[in-house]
Amino acid sequence: MTTLDHLLGRAAEHATRYRSELGSKPAKPLADYHSMRDRFDAPLPLVGADPVEVLDQLVAVAEQGLMPTTGPRFFAWVMGGSHPTGVAADFLVSAWGQNAGYQSTSPSGAAIEEVAERWLLEILDLPHTSGIGFATGATVANGICLAAARTKTLMAVGWDPDADGLFGAPPIHVLIGNDAHSSVYSSLQLVGLGRRRVISLDTDEVGRMIPAALERAIANLSGPKIIIAQAGQINTGAFDPFDEIVDIGRQHDAWVHVDGAFGLWARATPSHKHLTNGIEGGDSWATDGHKWLQAPYDCGFAIVRDRDALLGAMSQWSSYLPSIAEGDRIPSNYVPELSRRARGIPVYAMLKTLGRQGMADLVERHCSLAVRFADRLAAEPGIHVVSRPIINQLIVNFGDGDPAERRLHTEAVIAQVLHDGVCYVAGAMWRDDWVMRISVTSGATTEEDIDLSADAVIDAWRKVGHRS
Ligand SMILES: *Cc1c(COP(=O)(O)O)cnc(C)c1O
Repeated sequence: MTTLDHLLGRAAEHATRYRSELGSKPAKPLADYHSMRDRFDAPLPLVGADPVEVLDQLVAVAEQGLMPTTGPRFFAWVMGGSHPTGVAADFLVSAWGQNAGYQSTSPSGAAIEEVAERWLLEILDLPHTSGIGFATGATVANGICLAAARTKTLMAVGWDPDADGLFGAPPIHVLIGNDAHSSVYSSLQLVGLGRRRVISLDTDEVGRMIPAALERAIANLSGPKIIIAQAGQINTGAFDPFDEIVDIGRQHDAWVHVDGAFGLWARATPSHKHLTNGIEGGDSWATDGHKWLQAPYDCGFAIVRDRDALLGAMSQWSSYLPSIAEGDRIPSNYVPELSRRARGIPVYAMLKTLGRQGMADLVERHCSLAVRFADRLAAEPGIHVVSRPIINQLIVNFGDGDPAERRLHTEAVIAQVLHDGVCYVAGAMWRDDWVMRISVTSGATTEEDIDLSADAVIDAWRKVGHRS
């Protein structure tokens, strides 16, 4: 066997074994970060080593510290399960070594992205002439959309931020709901809009922006304005009332951006699409490929209605970059990077594997599995479902004492669940309470996994309850 056969074949063998063993192993990393650091730590080698040995040793060590995100009972954060089709396509992306920045550097990379763009707009039912930047995730996708918003709203008042920067520019008012995802603030920070100078708007009990609060806040603002709405609140899964928000945005000439990292995919289903009514009237939308679509990491989409605004904010020109025909795609003009991975390829493979029907089934299945999980937990005395699933997210806490006592119980139950290793969950702050957050987002999860996991949580609570 040549080294090539041996290496790539070996990698596939390791991957297949790892994935197929996951369901029967403890649902947690076997070693923590600090011990993994000790295991990897070594002096930089002076001379090289045999590549196959390097690979085998890497696997032997790394597997101890892998989070079973691709396993069937991982619920801690909203993370997709890296579907085997996406992984296989992504293996090839690496093997082909394409630089997908330009059509001349990868004809297939550019062409497939164009088709994937059209398919995404269709399945998400967003304006068909929108442009999509294939990014690393929703944080960067939010940043790309906000950069386009910045360009467009400032150009409208005679300032070109891409050429002249933001120093001395007219201020942009940014309005955002109080329960926006923390990463949106880092996106704001990245594009120079600042995370502190936003106008924060009141939200309701599940985290939806209150339109009257928006109306009041925007009424007396003049100049450029950006409203940041949300599809899928991280704890409750709630959706902002887009019809009203978009209306207010139009009346006040504001750019409406939506962070829909996972929630935007509700649009791919007949059953939950209504939650997003009005969202199509927005100006930009960010979502992830590595969450509900199950594409491997990393993958996100910056979707902008005004393609020229997106291109304006992201394009770069240089004499050595070939010119192209009008209407042809230059992938790098949609994102901040020039050299980049061909992210459109696993996306194309995933959409082709699932189809409209498969995607709708997947999202609907996760939503009903979340309800099943909630019902099982709610039936146990002392377990409180703090917010019932609107889509795939639920939060629960434990015990009947005051908030401090509930927090202690909830933390203890989470620790016990992780110790027992049947499923993986995590905690979060919601309002003034510490909660266990359960996200059903992995393609591998079945009804049986939900029942096993609900039993494990109940069992953990009984152990903790007895101790206290
Ligand atoms: C996950 C998430 C993000 C951040 O997405 P990344 O892909 O981790 O960058 C932003 N907003 C919401 C609502 C999310 O769930």
